[in-house]
Amino acid sequence: LSMPASTPIKTTCPYCGTGCGVEATPSGKLVRVAGDPQHPTNAGRLCVKGSALGDTVVPQGRLLHPQLRDKQSPGQPLQRLSWDAALDHAAGELRRIIDTHGPESVAWYVSGQLLTEDYYVANKLVKGFVGTANIDTNSRLCMSSAVAGHKRAFGEDIVPVAYEDLDRCDLVVLVGSNTAWCHPILFQRMLRAREARPQMKIVVLDPRKTASTEMADLHLGLRAGSDVRLFNGLLAHLHRLGLTDAAFVERSTLGLDETLAAADRDASLADIAADCGLEVEALERFYALFAATERVITCFSMGVNQSSAGTDKVNSIINCHLLTGRIGKPGAGPFSLTGQPNAMGGREVGGLANMLASHMDLEREEHRELVQRFWQSPAIASRTGLKAVDLFKAIESGEIKAVWIMATNPVVSLPDADQVRRALDQCELVIVSDVMAETDTTAYAHLLLPAQGWGEKDGTVTNSERCISRQRAFVPPLGEARPDWWMLSEVARRWGHAAQFPYRAVHEIFDEHARLSAFENEGARYFDIGGLAGLDAHAYDALAPLRWPVPRTAADARHLQAFADGRFYHADGLARFVPTPARAPANAVDADYPLVLNTGRVRDHWHTMTRTGLSATLSSHIPEPFVELNPADAEAAGIAHGSLARVSTRWGSLVGRAVVADEHARGSLFVPIHWNAQFASDARVGALVNPVVDPVSGEPEFKHTPAKVEAF
Ligand code: SF4
Repeated sequence: LSMPASTPIKTTCPYCGTGCGVEATPSGKLVRVAGDPQHPTNAGRLCVKGSALGDTVVPQGRLLHPQLRDKQSPGQPLQRLSWDAALDHAAGELRRIIDTHGPESVAWYVSGQLLTEDYYVANKLVKGFVGTANIDTNSRLCMSSAVAGHKRAFGEDIVPVAYEDLDRCDLVVLVGSNTAWCHPILFQRMLRAREARPQMKIVVLDPRKTASTEMADLHLGLRAGSDVRLFNGLLAHLHRLGLTDAAFVERSTLGLDETLAAADRDASLADIAADCGLEVEALERFYALFAATERVITCFSMGVNQSSAGTDKVNSIINCHLLTGRIGKPGAGPFSLTGQPNAMGGREVGGLANMLASHMDLEREEHRELVQRFWQSPAIASRTGLKAVDLFKAIESGEIKAVWIMATNPVVSLPDADQVRRALDQCELVIVSDVMAETDTTAYAHLLLPAQGWGEKDGTVTNSERCISRQRAFVPPLGEARPDWWMLSEVARRWGHAAQFPYRAVHEIFDEHARLSAFENEGARYFDIGGLAGLDAHAYDALAPLRWPVPRTAADARHLQAFADGRFYHADGLARFVPTPARAPANAVDADYPLVLNTGRVRDHWHTMTRTGLSATLSSHIPEPFVELNPADAEAAGIAHGSLARVSTRWGSLVGRAVVADEHARGSLFVPIHWNAQFASDARVGALVNPVVDPVSGEPEFKHTPAKVEAF
């Protein structure tokens, strides 16, 4: 890999949903990386992960050629084959299975690492041309509860806050988010805003003490899973204080009375504090701060979403903003911080098994009819597909006989991850398109397709605040790596759909996506990038970051703050309060498994480390998997700080280095999500996580699995 020195290419960081702009300069065998000073998200700043991106543009471990495993001769090495033969095999085998068993017998499992154009083509092919909605994404594990909460409250999946609102607010509430480590550039922006305006406060609600809680004005270490109780209590408290925005509630909402009734409105603050495991003074202080502050933004992330009550948690937060009318105004609103670089872009094109492109609804006949007409497709999925956890159960049961996994590593990342191994082990056809040759998941592939990686591929991503930003190629692809959209289109052509998949370049896909967003959409949907339709290759290449909805004409004012006019996207234009009776996590601790296992990220790694594991700098921060626990729990188990400890649940076990810390809450364990068989044996925490999901969103409960710990 040797490249000529050149001028910087502007692109976007492929890690977190903050979506920072990057300038990449290839030089010889190296790539120099710096923050893009002109990008509105980060104005030249990068966190440690973004700064080390150059270390990851290397040939080590790359999948370079299509390869096929002979299923009749297990144990034989993969055989290299041409792209033509590989695509013939994929198209032929998928067609055979569909013709024999029907469209519901095949599935796709895709990723928030895909670019929007890849995501668009995948969803078009599967929902419009296979005729099934069995396409789900690892974003199901990340923000599907936020999507479901938005749709219940607003009628559409809309994030009503932008980053600049953080510069204008007087209170930021971070719920279930270690923003300092997981969205570092965004957290630094919050700290700068507080420095500039000392009246601004930061409150963190998190069972753990983290780098974020260290910087907070107030930390509430609430009991895991008690968020709904806390926000229901806040709703009733604000109502009692007379802080209901009666005019807004009357004009713009429905359902307050039922919601207050379900919120246990007469509970005392002492009862709520006890249920949440808090001192009553701390709860009172938070409630008073929220009550007294007009400009408040409640940011929430995985601690809220990854729960069997995730959607209710989201709605319990939104309810408080609706009650006080603190939404649709500068510096106020609920704000979902997405985990992945393109979770939002995936949502725009219907990346989840229960969505259609352009924020249309798979369950609404008029939306299905509209999308099918636009695509000129022979069929359209008529029912919701299987969500991630159920999808892999259906593979294990044999209901699904073929799966195409794109840009993700479910053998590590899904809950009850050993079940995923069992499922793939007996699946009739497993196609994996990936950048890396050897992951826990590629080991189960029958057909391996080499995908282009960051720096090679070209397209767009959308960050947490709805800002669309270009990822640009700046190095030639290694080996025979090709774009994901190209592989999918080639399969479509082999099925006779060349006219509907005519793409020769990525800007043509973006144009189609933009046109669909405006197709028969006169304000019926908030998502609209019709103003970007018709970009030619040059204009697309030059596209500067911008937030949707994009005005279609100069006079079009739809780019103003979401909901500023008090109108929402339910058919009647009203937002919904959603009753959220508090309920406990699905599995309670017991005598055999007395501790609560919580999982999450560390500062310097990303997902299953296939990229960040290539950087010596990043690996030096925390070099090995660990188990964080309280001294009392460690002593009870005979575990010393720095020794090895085994964590077990009813689903699996792992071994990690014990980190015994006074500040860690008693009765709980924390294990990071990143390490796996590639980097440390026996350390896939996914194998320990209970496979229970939120009944509305299908998002798994990664933050609450009954567990035990013992010396190893
Ligand atoms: Fe990349 Fe997120 Fe860091 Fe920005 S904050 S540089 S997007 S990892």
